[in-house]
Amino acid sequence: MHRRWIVLGLLTLLLAAPAGANEQEAPTTMGGELEPVAVPEPTPLARRYHETGNWIWAGDQLIAIGVPALLLFSGASARLRQIAHRVGHYWFFEVGVYVALYLAITFLIDLPFLFYQGYVRPHAYGLSNQDLGRWSGNVLKSLGVSMAVGVLFAWVPFALISRAPRRWWLYLTLLMVPFLFGVMLVKPVWVDPLFNHFGSMKDTALERKILDLAGRAGIDGSRVFEVDKSRDTKAVNAYVTGFLGTKRIVLWDTLIAKLDEPGLLFVMGHEMGHYALGHVVRSVLLSSVVILCSLFFVDRAGRWAIARWGAQAHPHPPGTGPNGGTPAAGRFGFDRLADVAAVPLILLLTHVSAVLLAPVVNAYSRHQEFEADRFALELTRTNHSGAKAFVKLQVENLSNPRPGLFYKTFRATHPSIGERIDFCNTYHPWTNGAPLVYGGLFRR
Ligand SMILES: [Zn+2]
Repeated sequence: MHRRWIVLGLLTLLLAAPAGANEQEAPTTMGGELEPVAVPEPTPLARRYHETGNWIWAGDQLIAIGVPALLLFSGASARLRQIAHRVGHYWFFEVGVYVALYLAITFLIDLPFLFYQGYVRPHAYGLSNQDLGRWSGNVLKSLGVSMAVGVLFAWVPFALISRAPRRWWLYLTLLMVPFLFGVMLVKPVWVDPLFNHFGSMKDTALERKILDLAGRAGIDGSRVFEVDKSRDTKAVNAYVTGFLGTKRIVLWDTLIAKLDEPGLLFVMGHEMGHYALGHVVRSVLLSSVVILCSLFFVDRAGRWAIARWGAQAHPHPPGTGPNGGTPAAGRFGFDRLADVAAVPLILLLTHVSAVLLAPVVNAYSRHQEFEADRFALELTRTNHSGAKAFVKLQVENLSNPRPGLFYKTFRATHPSIGERIDFCNTYHPWTNGAPLVYGGLFRR
C-alpha cells in the first residue's frame, strides 16, 4: 500500500524496512463480491494510538526545527566547522568531517526520542517483534548510510552555492532529478538488503497467481519479492520500488500470513496499479518541482537569517555602519550560506518548507493511491475481498478509519481506510456496462 515517498526526505539524507498457510476459502461468487463491507469502529487502543501519534508528529517537527536552531544560535555549528577545518584541512574533507560530526551529534541528541518512537511505543501497542539488538543494529546502519551519503555528496550543494550564489537553487534542482533516479535505481539492491532479506515468494502457487494477474495488468517480467518483515513488526504492508532494472513489487511476509488469497490479490492489483501507471517516476518528477520551491525558499530565507544573525562579512567603513564599523560577531558565527557551518540553517529551512508543502505533496500522493485502488478494482473486480483486506489493514496496523482534517492535510499520504472501503463498496462500473478507466491497459 505504501510507496517509499522520497521527496524531501532525500534532501535530508543528502546531509544527514513466513508465509503462514493461507486459509483456503471457497471461490467467492460475483454476487458475493458486491456485498458491501461496514467500516469497523476503531478500538480504544487504536484511537489512543492515533491521538498520541499526532502529538508525536508535532514533537518530531519541533525536534527537526529545534535541534538545528540550537546548534546555530549557540554558535556550536561554527565551532564544529573550525574543528572540521583543522581535521580535514582541505575543503572537500572539511565538508565531509563536518557532516559526519553533525550527523553523529544530532543522532545522539535525537536518540532518546528515536528509542521511544521506534522501540518503546510499537512494543507498548503490540505492533513490534523486534528485539533491542536488532533495533539498535538497524538504527546504527541507518546512521552509517546517512553518513556515507552525506560525506560523498554534501560538498555538491556547497560548491554550487559558492560558485553560483544567485542561481544555485536552480542548478541543484537540475542535479537532484538524475540523483533521485539514481537513488531509486540502487536503493532496492544496495540499501534495503542491509536491513531485511528480500527473496522470491515462498508460496510458488500464489506467486504463479500473482504473475498471472500481472500479465492481465499488462505488466511483463515483473518481479515480486517477499521480505522478512515479521522479524521487525506485526504490521502489514506492500509497496512498489525501484527504477528500470530494479523495479519491483515487495510483499511483507506479514501481509501474506494475514490476508486471504483474494485479499492479497487485490492488494497486488493495487501495487500493480502503481507499477503500470508509472507512479514512482511521476513522484520523482513532482519531487523536483517541490525541491525547486524548497531550495528557492532556503536561499531567500537563508540570506535573510544570515543578514540578521550571521557575522558581518564586509563591515561598514569606520563610523558609518550600524555597529560603528566593528565587525559584529553574529550569533551564527558565519556570514555566508556557502559556509558548511550553514548545514543546520539549510536543514531547518528545508524542513519548514517541507511542512508548508506537505498539503500539496500529500494530496498528490492520495490521488495516486486512489487511482491505484481504482486500477485494482477494475482489474480484479473483487470489491468485497478488497474491502475486507482494508478492514484487516485497519485492525492490524491500528489505523483510524476516519481521521480528522489536520491529519489528512499534513500527514495522510493515503486516502483514509474508511474512504477506501466506501470506494470498494460503490465502484463497479462493469456491473452496468460503463467503460473502465484503465480497461485499455488490461489484457484478456
Ligand atoms: Zn499504494
